[in-house]
Amino acid sequence: MTPTPVKEGSAAVQARRVLVLNSGSSSVKYQLLDMNDRSRLAIGLVERIGEETSRLLHTPLTGGDAETRERTGRIADHAAALKTAAEELAADGLGLDSPELAAIGHRVVHGGLRFTRPTVITDEVLTEIERLVPVAPLHNPANITGIRTAQALRPDLPQVAVFDTAFHTTMPEYAARYAIDVETADAHRIRRYGFHGTSHAYVSRKAAELLGRTPEEVNVIVLHLGNGASASAVAAGRCVETSMGLTPLEGLVMGTRSGDIDPAVTFHLKRVAGMSTDEIDVLLNKRSGLLGLCGDNDMREIRRRIDEGDERAALAFDIYVHRLKKYIGAYSAVLGRVDAVVFTAGVGENSAPVREAAIAGLEELGLVVDAGLNAVRSGEPRLISPNYARVAVAVVPTDEELEIADQAFALVGRAESAGQEVPVGQVDN
Ligand code: AMP
Repeated sequence: MTPTPVKEGSAAVQARRVLVLNSGSSSVKYQLLDMNDRSRLAIGLVERIGEETSRLLHTPLTGGDAETRERTGRIADHAAALKTAAEELAADGLGLDSPELAAIGHRVVHGGLRFTRPTVITDEVLTEIERLVPVAPLHNPANITGIRTAQALRPDLPQVAVFDTAFHTTMPEYAARYAIDVETADAHRIRRYGFHGTSHAYVSRKAAELLGRTPEEVNVIVLHLGNGASASAVAAGRCVETSMGLTPLEGLVMGTRSGDIDPAVTFHLKRVAGMSTDEIDVLLNKRSGLLGLCGDNDMREIRRRIDEGDERAALAFDIYVHRLKKYIGAYSAVLGRVDAVVFTAGVGENSAPVREAAIAGLEELGLVVDAGLNAVRSGEPRLISPNYARVAVAVVPTDEELEIADQAFALVGRAESAGQEVPVGQVDN
């Protein structure tokens, strides 16, 4: 195979592909990227792992038309899922045994306080990620399974963990600490960690670029509104506050999560409604938010129902928007000066009514949305505020996979170009 040409400044790195894996409890999403031009070579998803109705969707992007192939039937576990994905990639001439593969980048949800940067995974790193399972019981076990599976597939390759919490580790102590007894909190590592950090990092940087400034020159509020949703206040490129906490339950109203709630509601549900801890967990994480309020968690469906005059859907929308407004106001106060409010993720990128309603009435904060610009559909970063507005309002599509690939490739590439072994187990700086 002809080695891929190496770009100036990137020294001896020959292998320039990165596989990004996002392993959930019953799904694996993957993307193979060519870091020469940061393009996608293939994307795919294996879902319902372990069930009879497992399904793999694989789309090669190297040819002209991107045609998705589908495989159905039981895929027993994560190892089988990755093996099936590898077969699909091999069928496109993109086999994971290729010497062109430089690294596998893993999304890892919880990195605690230890992991502030992308990190090459060693046994010791994996043990540390395991130690964090009590604070991320839904996410870290699946991430660990994904890592072990990928290690078995390519034991010779650097596997890099990119943590959802890392971007938020710059939060000052007064923002990260809950006002509860310090000894109890510390004994159980109870504090605000924040999530979606890869997205907040990427989007805040892109927003600065859109404004023609460096990240250090701007203060931005990022609203990541997907099925999960979180806000962050980013001052001069560093996160100073974010809405998710010990777990992704805190903060904004989400698709199925309540967001902020009086903690006494949980005692009340236990004492008065006789619910178990697990039942309350399911209620607040899976049966609340937009779904709990109106029976739908998809913003498209909620808007359709509102257009038909559905009052429950309208109230759910108003509650969702009211919470967003409170966070925009709070984060304006935290930052002191705001240069941009940026919408991203499924709802943020696509729902003009949510953007319009969240910014409506905030003229005193310098925030205005131009109806014409807001109505434009585009996959590009764009401003939706008029020229005269004091604070920019923007839509910036997020790209967590690209960010993970960039971070993993930079970590591996820097070490190699310096003629070093990849710094296995060390944090990047
Ligand atoms: P994410 O978690 O970022 O993939 O976002 C998923 C959510 O985005 C869905 O549950 C929908 O609520 C929302 N969404 C996706 N497409 C649209 C759209 N065209 N209009 C409004 N909401 C959308």
